[in-house]
Amino acid sequence: MIHYLTTGLLAALMLACSPSQSHPSASASTAPASGTGAAAAASIQAGDGGFVPEPIIVQWNGQPYTRDAEQWREMLDPLTFRVTREAGTERAFSGAYWDKKAKGVYACSNCGLVLFDSKTKFRSGTGWPSFYKPFADAHIGETTDRSLGMLRTEVHCARCGAHQGHVFNDGPEPTGLRYCINSVSLHFVPEAQVPKR
Ligand SMILES: [Zn+2]
Repeated sequence: MIHYLTTGLLAALMLACSPSQSHPSASASTAPASGTGAAAAASIQAGDGGFVPEPIIVQWNGQPYTRDAEQWREMLDPLTFRVTREAGTERAFSGAYWDKKAKGVYACSNCGLVLFDSKTKFRSGTGWPSFYKPFADAHIGETTDRSLGMLRTEVHCARCGAHQGHVFNDGPEPTGLRYCINSVSLHFVPEAQVPKR
């Protein structure tokens, strides 16, 4: 039994971020946040980590934002803690943002640093929000991830270290990059609420 569970889990993780993966229930019903537009701003959405990081930081001064593990655990819901502080992965097609098309920016769900712009979001078919470049190069950190027998590039928030996902070399033009990100690592900010740069 344990063997089957382990094998199944490994198989599921191996599929993480695979662009060829399709999903039979990839319909609007699995994307409650999709298309809600301005109304989405009024309430905290699932996948926002249970709180709204304030303020949203568009221009970062380079100062790190640090909390110990217990503080993060108190601030974040269990799934967001697991993904962002323990490098977990949310289930494909389960997050709030994989199919979101509204204009705005995506900030780190742990600290509010803006990490991605909706202008660079594209449909990857993976079930995770995907972008072809960061909002600013300095806002994203990278590490080499050798887990699960694969060599991947992990990406995280440069300010607080929150795990975001991975970056791959099979993205669209103009960069050829595909940032495959967990919804719970992000907090969407509608364009009208983005602080002036
Ligand atoms: Zn952060």
